[in-house]
Amino acid sequence: MTTIANNLQQVLGRMAQACTAAGRDPASVGLLAVSKTFGADAVLEAVAAGQRAFGENYIQEGVDKIAAVRAALPDVALQWHCIGPIQSNKTRPVAEHFDWVHTVDRLKIAERLSAQRPEPLPPLHICIQVNIDGGPTKSGVVPADALELVRAVAKLPRLVVRGLMAIPDHAPEFEAQLAIHMRAKALFDSISALKEPGLAQFDTLSLGMTADLEAAIQAGSTLVRVGTGVFGGRTYPAA
Ligand SMILES: *Cc1c(COP(=O)(O)O)cnc(C)c1O
Repeated sequence: MTTIANNLQQVLGRMAQACTAAGRDPASVGLLAVSKTFGADAVLEAVAAGQRAFGENYIQEGVDKIAAVRAALPDVALQWHCIGPIQSNKTRPVAEHFDWVHTVDRLKIAERLSAQRPEPLPPLHICIQVNIDGGPTKSGVVPADALELVRAVAKLPRLVVRGLMAIPDHAPEFEAQLAIHMRAKALFDSISALKEPGLAQFDTLSLGMTADLEAAIQAGSTLVRVGTGVFGGRTYPAA
């Protein structure tokens, strides 16, 4: 078994155990394998081990990797999620090449993604990024403004609003991780509970990474984003 296949099995095992501990159905939590900084070869290895959904942070790197993987595996349906920050002049490649975007935190970005989504493709799936623990310089809409943004995005013709995403600051203790994740879950539930017609597919809470996936699953995450746990430690190119 390759290292990546073995890592995937371990991460899926952690997820299953966390679901059991939380009294949740393991099928209610998906795994997004975050392949940023790793090459198409690593993605192909993960695909061979059964993984189908991948997350990328850097748009050009992601677009190149999507093309390389598609060329190698033209018949395997994969899902590509953009989980990095998007400047408004970089929306077009995202709209043209990705299936999901987790990092929409202002209407202007959503409007551009909708306008630029090519007609033959299905609508782009959107999670609204929420700044759940409040640092003023952090990305994400403040929780009090999340519903308004969700509703506005739901009206855009080429987008479908799927839920919320958050990246809480790292906390070393499980209890502290859980407390912050529970705030994201409460906001998610308050919006789902409205059962508004435009929000029929509002079913995704993108929460939890390698270090805190157990707490995120305990809180109610439906999609954990795991990089290091699947692909190993990252080295970033020097700035
Ligand atoms: C890099 C990244 C991840 C994965 O982080 P790991 O700690 O390596 O699991 C998840 N979400 C986002 C938004 C990221 O940028």
